[in-house]
Amino acid sequence: MDMQVSFLDRLFDAGLLIETGVDGLYGRSGQFEDVIAAFERLIDSVGGADGAEAMRFPPGMNREFFETSGYMKSFPQLAGTVHSFCGSELDHMSLLKCMEVGEDWTKGQEATDIVLTPAACYPLYPTVARRGKLPKSGGLYDLQSYCFRHEPSKDPARQQLFRMREYVCMGTEQHVTDFRQRWMDRGVEMMKSVGLDVAIDIANDPFFGRAGKMLANNQRDQNLKFELLIPITSTAKPTACMSFNYHQDAFGTKWGLYLEDGSTAHTACVGFGLERIALALFHTHGLDVKAWPESVRAVLWG
Ligand code: ATP
Ligand code: MG
Repeated sequence: MDMQVSFLDRLFDAGLLIETGVDGLYGRSGQFEDVIAAFERLIDSVGGADGAEAMRFPPGMNREFFETSGYMKSFPQLAGTVHSFCGSELDHMSLLKCMEVGEDWTKGQEATDIVLTPAACYPLYPTVARRGKLPKSGGLYDLQSYCFRHEPSKDPARQQLFRMREYVCMGTEQHVTDFRQRWMDRGVEMMKSVGLDVAIDIANDPFFGRAGKMLANNQRDQNLKFELLIPITSTAKPTACMSFNYHQDAFGTKWGLYLEDGSTAHTACVGFGLERIALALFHTHGLDVKAWPESVRAVLWG
């Protein structure tokens, strides 16, 4: 029988990922973080000259904005909400009692004003909308956040809390689709420069339910989402390490994003899955960073 040790177990054994007892929730070693930091510097060196405005939000967002985003319509299965105890002393007593006897103590928890951020760009749209019309040149933003998605898995590339680096572009259709194409080309070049085997393919989001099937088909038919794929846990089914999304004017309409001439802004975003890229590097070049090809080390660490 094939007793092959899984990639996840090898990452645990090497200390690169740290087990917590929950699938998809891991600690990261200093070495793992150093690879992510190096790759983010590479992103900076490629995208830096574009003059994007950097913003960093914490991994939680305003629940009101989350509701407006429509996330619960499309991806209710992935969302994570933050609930807290808001009761009296009596409620506290019964909560402790529940814990003591091993009953569900979470039932009385109440929703707070915060939900976990599902994608790094979610807090951006209301922030930009609040500023008024976009300048003639459009808008370009640089984001990074831990994101939560309730998709527990033994696949180390599918985590529940992971980091997404994103660039978001707002402007005319031509402006934002050019942006997206530029980053598809750059993404392929970047991955090749660190010795990774890449392919670009059309993709769709995992919209929930039967109505979701139609949304997914529509997204594919209209070429709205592309992914950059790299083998991590399977060569037959490589993993999406970047995605390139064109939202048409859907977000512009939803959030009230307008160009100087009063027309509704089109938007596009490119996302780097930072843990997935690090994992692709470890899978391709081995778990010992010192043994990685000199050319790859040179690109990442100069
Ligand atoms: P997948 O199809 O694999 O679920 P996705 O289409 O949901 O990916 P996006 O929503 O486009 O991914 O998110 C942008 C990027 O974030 C992805 O290209 C990927 O690199 C990364 N990512 C998405 N989900 C996860 C996850 N569960 N764990 C780690 N990285 C992720
Ligand atoms: Mg997904």
